[in-house]
Amino acid sequence: YFRIMMNSTTIKELKDLLSSPKKIIIIPHRNPDGDAIGSSLGLYHVLTNQGHSAQVISPNDLPNFLNWMPGVETIKIYEKSEQESQKLLSEADIIFTLDFNILLRTGDRMESFLEKLPQDFVMIDHHQMPGDYAKFTFSDPQYGSTCELMYVVLNLLMLAPYIDTNAATCIYTGIVTDSGSFKFPKTTAQTHRIVAELLDKGVKNADIHNYLFDHNSFNKLQLMGKALQNIVLMPKQHTSYLFLTEEDLYKYNHQKGDTEGLVNYGLSIDGIHLTAFFIERKEEGIIKISFRSQGDVDVNQFARKYFEGGGHINAAGGKSHLSLEETIARFKKIVENEKIIA
Ligand code: 5GP
Ligand code: MN
Repeated sequence: YFRIMMNSTTIKELKDLLSSPKKIIIIPHRNPDGDAIGSSLGLYHVLTNQGHSAQVISPNDLPNFLNWMPGVETIKIYEKSEQESQKLLSEADIIFTLDFNILLRTGDRMESFLEKLPQDFVMIDHHQMPGDYAKFTFSDPQYGSTCELMYVVLNLLMLAPYIDTNAATCIYTGIVTDSGSFKFPKTTAQTHRIVAELLDKGVKNADIHNYLFDHNSFNKLQLMGKALQNIVLMPKQHTSYLFLTEEDLYKYNHQKGDTEGLVNYGLSIDGIHLTAFFIERKEEGIIKISFRSQGDVDVNQFARKYFEGGGHINAAGGKSHLSLEETIARFKKIVENEKIIA
């Protein structure tokens, strides 16, 4: 059915642990996306329905395009209410971490607190190379989304009856966003079977697509236009890249989430197998980079080796402390010299 780092004994152990009401904290990765928030809120609804006291704590703010999700108003932001969050974390019986593989993905501030906590962690994630901080690790990079994997895990834990319409809506959202609306290669027959079961639970799929993709601001589309104008081709290397400067972001009143998905346009060009998207974030003092690739071109390795990042084979991220110009020059040099595309 699927590969997880888990056997029936540990499934039973977690199931037993959840058989009486517990205080549970759920944590998505920093700069959370649809899959991170979808899985976190989906689990929040399920555990609440089961009788637990559950709370989602996100390391930092959510992107605007997720502000309609059921339960989103209950989420606490660690970096905005650090003391309150630390108190809640200290009092928790068990901590779920969703859609990430190492605690550092929660950011420096939250990580340094989490790594000292004595409680047991549960990891549900689909990134490569899971760390070993969790007592219960459900990790399988064959899954296209944490939400899909979590749906399977909830079934193993016999918690499927607690998946109500709200939970199903959140889980559906994560599957849609991480699969590029069912088009990325990890979308399987099982993905569609699970989606069918979610629709049976009352998910209004057309409404969700509308919330996610048809609530753009005018500024967001102008910013997208700017990013598309900024695409540069390296035809010999079957590579493209695009960028946005701090000035571009300011001019179009950039809001969190506005740049989501733009990197895919770099890869959508005929003959292009590798693309990178550079965003100048002066406030954080970094260039945030997204990588996308097709086929065997492994951007997880690429991001790990050269840009302090990681992710999946065909979708990864990283950062650079050089200037935007220097970062792009370095990227071009690496691509030209390394022959990462056969
Ligand atoms: P995105 O480009 O959409 O931000 O991220 C693509 C994938 O790479 C996601 O699975 C994301 O979790 C991962 N990713 C993005 N940035 C980083 C990073 O700085 N470090 C690591 N390890 N993974 C990242
Ligand atoms: Mn994900």
